[in-house]
Amino acid sequence: MKTIGLLGGMSWESTVCYYRAINEGVRKALGGLHSARIVMHSVDFEPLEKLQHEGDWEAVGEMLSQAALSVQSAGADFLVICTNTMHRVTPQVEKAIQIPVLHIADATAEVLVNEGIRTVGLLGTAFTMEQDFYKGRLSESHGLEVLVPNEEDRRIVHQVIYRELCLGQTRSGSKAQYLRIIDELARRGAQAVILGCTEIGLLVTQDDTDVRLFDTTAIHARKAVEYAL
Ligand code: GLU
Repeated sequence: MKTIGLLGGMSWESTVCYYRAINEGVRKALGGLHSARIVMHSVDFEPLEKLQHEGDWEAVGEMLSQAALSVQSAGADFLVICTNTMHRVTPQVEKAIQIPVLHIADATAEVLVNEGIRTVGLLGTAFTMEQDFYKGRLSESHGLEVLVPNEEDRRIVHQVIYRELCLGQTRSGSKAQYLRIIDELARRGAQAVILGCTEIGLLVTQDDTDVRLFDTTAIHARKAVEYAL
C-alpha cells in the first residue's frame, strides 16, 4: 500500500471527511483492521483565505508548496490537495515536489465521462466556478460542457461556503437555496451537478434531490484509495 499525502485544513471540516472516507475505503478493500497509510499537513486556513480573496495566488502557491514539501519529506508517495479551489496553484506545487498530485478535477471528470454525462452543472467557490483552472480543465481536457449558476446565485453559493460551511454551520435556508440553484442548473440542461467544493456534501446530499450529484470529496477520496492500493 502506498502512503497517501493529504494537504488539508481548507477547511478542516472537509478534511475530516477525507480522512474518514479514505480509511473506510481501505477497510472495505482489505478487510480486518486494515487502515490507510496517511501523512497529513493541515494548514491554518485564515491567512490563506485572506490571500485568496486579495488575489495573491503567488503567495498561496508558495505557502502550499512548503506544506507539500513537508508531506513529501514525511514519506508520502503522492499528494491529495483536499480542496477544489486550491487546485488553482497546483502547477506551482507540482514544480516544488517530486511526488505526483492527484488532481480533483481529473478524478471527477473521469467518473462523469464513464457515466456518460456530457453536460454538467458546477457548484463551488467563485474561483472554481469562474476561473479556467477548474471549469476550463473540465471542458478542455475532458470535453464536458459546464454550466454555472448566474452571477447572483454564484455569490450566494460562494458566501455560504466561506461564511457557514467552512465554519461548520449548516443552515436550512442555505440548503433550500442550494437545492433551488441545483434545480435551475438541471432545468438549463445539466444532466448532473458537481459538488465542486469539498464542504458542500455537508449541506446537500443525494437524498435531498432527484438531480444526480457528484461529490468531489467522495470521488477524490475514492481515487486516493485506488491509487494507494
Ligand atoms: N474547500 C473548498 C473547496 O473545495 C473551499 C475552501 C478553499 O478555498 O480551499 O474549494
